[in-house]
Amino acid sequence: MDAIFLSPTATLKYEDCGHQYYLTNVLKIRTAQVGHALPFGKAGHLACLAYIKAQAEGRENLDPVPIFREAWERALATEVIEFSRYSPEELMVIGTNLVKAFPEAWAATGWRALTNANGALVEARMRVTVGDGVVLSGEADMLIEDRDGRIGVPDLKFPAAKAFEGFAMASDQLTAYNILVNAHLASLGLKKRVEWLGFLEGLKKKSVEWTHQTSPARSDAQMEAYLRKLVFLARSIREGHFHKRSAAAFNSPCSLCDMRSLCLSGSADGLVLSDDAKQALGMTPELPMVA
Ligand code: SF4
Repeated sequence: MDAIFLSPTATLKYEDCGHQYYLTNVLKIRTAQVGHALPFGKAGHLACLAYIKAQAEGRENLDPVPIFREAWERALATEVIEFSRYSPEELMVIGTNLVKAFPEAWAATGWRALTNANGALVEARMRVTVGDGVVLSGEADMLIEDRDGRIGVPDLKFPAAKAFEGFAMASDQLTAYNILVNAHLASLGLKKRVEWLGFLEGLKKKSVEWTHQTSPARSDAQMEAYLRKLVFLARSIREGHFHKRSAAAFNSPCSLCDMRSLCLSGSADGLVLSDDAKQALGMTPELPMVA
């Protein structure tokens, strides 16, 4: 039996809609254009995580602003990006202002990245074998010590609006990080288990706002329940259960689904499909031109 790798994102996608997971994660269909949120988030992460790392490693003077600007300019030059509410120029201003305000917001949290012999524990990629051939994989943005010396795992986000208060207690993504870090304490050089989880959010809007929320670490029972769910989902994936899930109009995953035109009307316009994917969907792969 081949191992099945599940990241928190892939798991969420499968739970959202099995058919969307099938199209994007099994057939590897992608959109020709990428939504602006992904490259904007990447540029923000690059800048803020570089700052967090530099602070923890004693390089106090690192300025995150040029890092954001360069990454956003590079994304604009190299990717086909789809914009909705804000233009590329407006997003450059929004991102620059957010990142400029980040050092003050970071200082206000009282957090500091933990370090080991390899430097700050930032972007730690981890895997843990769950059983039944399932591997949980994920990358925690940062491992942190707060003012009281408590170990935490906050996730950095750049959403348009802040998460509802209490979401840190519910988030499966944070549960996954809790499990991954606890499983790697020795290799990370940590002596204690994770004590809290959280989100640090820079809001994508014209007025600058950084916000954060935290939650106690998950209990053993909560983590075990999540692992049981992973095994259940992996079994469903292996058995080929890729059902469509529209939900109700007010909370339908279809409203944000990149595969919507393909799913609803069979149109592959704006999508990139391999010949294997076309074959699996009963489309005729293009024949090579004959002179
Ligand atoms: S349009 Fe809706 S039902 Fe179809 S793949 Fe997307 S989320 Fe699933």
